[in-house]
Amino acid sequence: MFVGHYGAAYLLKKRFSQVPLWSLFVSVQLVDILTFVLVPLGIERIVYKPVPNPFLRTSLEYVPYSHSLSSNVIIALAVFLISYKLAGKAWALALLIGSVSHWFLDCLVHVGDIPLFFDSCKVGFGLWRFSRTGFLLETAFLILASLYFLRGSDKIRRHVILIVVLVAGYMAMFLAPQAEGTPTQASVMSLTLYAVFAGLAYWAERSKPKQQTSALQPEVQDNHS
Ligand SMILES: [Zn+2]
Repeated sequence: MFVGHYGAAYLLKKRFSQVPLWSLFVSVQLVDILTFVLVPLGIERIVYKPVPNPFLRTSLEYVPYSHSLSSNVIIALAVFLISYKLAGKAWALALLIGSVSHWFLDCLVHVGDIPLFFDSCKVGFGLWRFSRTGFLLETAFLILASLYFLRGSDKIRRHVILIVVLVAGYMAMFLAPQAEGTPTQASVMSLTLYAVFAGLAYWAERSKPKQQTSALQPEVQDNHS
């Protein structure tokens, strides 16, 4: 799954409002980030397949440390313990759920290449076989989750820009022609995009309501009267 993971981040942000969105963006992609660090190091392996369906062009060939359920449990526990120590219970719970959500959302869409234990018992419900349905459902999940979070919020504009960037990037990937790159190139590009998206999430939350301007207005009027 791609941008659908950020839908999970927005749902978590609604529940854990004190936890920054950028950290939730990182947590829901932590598993992929680990994969794209381990692939260039030769520890894990993804392979490119020249098929028309854009979702099936990259196969997780050997990803026991990042994408197995057993590793996910260990990663999520480590995230929980570290964030509990550094930032407290709310951060720990939110980042735990965020990091563990990745495996279950991936499991819905991947076609039998998600391991349960280390490199064995590979599963995946295969929604990506139906590429257009998969694309629409994932996009809808992100949009609905973000709208649920934004309901009643006064910081809508930057979040809308963020969502548009995410959907546009996803659409570009979906419509892109087949072009084989090396796994290292794919890893660098993916890590760059994850950093950009987390940066935009940070920027979206920094938007301030225009309280100062409206607070000054009566004073200016008073001075003239
Ligand atoms: Zn993944």
